[in-house]
Amino acid sequence: MRKKERALLIVEKLKGQYPDAACTLDYDQAWKLLVSVRLAAQCTDARVNIVVEGLFEKYPSIEALAEASVEDIEKIVHPCGLGPSKARDISACMKMLRDVYHCKVPDDFDELLKLPGVGRKSANLIMGDVFGKPAIVTDTHCIRLSNRFGLVDGIKEPGKVEKELWKIIPPQEGSDFCHRLVLHGREVCTARKAYCEECCLQEFCKKVL
Ligand code: SF4
Repeated sequence: MRKKERALLIVEKLKGQYPDAACTLDYDQAWKLLVSVRLAAQCTDARVNIVVEGLFEKYPSIEALAEASVEDIEKIVHPCGLGPSKARDISACMKMLRDVYHCKVPDDFDELLKLPGVGRKSANLIMGDVFGKPAIVTDTHCIRLSNRFGLVDGIKEPGKVEKELWKIIPPQEGSDFCHRLVLHGREVCTARKAYCEECCLQEFCKKVL
């Protein structure tokens, strides 16, 4: 079976299994998702959701957070790990949004990449979730499962996986497809243990074939 056909079948299977694909970071404004995505590096979404409550209560707007000291941001986001670099990026990102983008998160992928602390994964997440545009978010679950399903072959580098998936996943399906891979990767096929007997994708899995 060609990779494209295989990908379409997997997209449909995942849709059936996880009808409600959504980002597990809580947010009600685009800039808040930008902050949360930066904090989510090497941290769980659940913890980020708790930590940002305090951050956004104290600094409820882009302007307010841009004015905050890096030290105070670091104190608040410390439980997410990597506090100094995350605080520096968040501060610089909010300043840039205020000074360059008139406090509006840009809806352009290349503009998003100019923001401090925003890489391809984060920019894709914002494009897909906030703006409803085509997106491929290559996080650890996406990379692991795309290899298991034979959608990519032994590729671990996020940018290369993204490039390969763009070729075979229908653009409008990309964002939800990646969210569903996260759900599957957390619930059924985790990095530590695969619960194959519960898996709806056995027929596509290299481990089982
Ligand atoms: S069959 Fe097992 S190893 Fe393959 S994707 Fe499903 S849970 Fe993971």
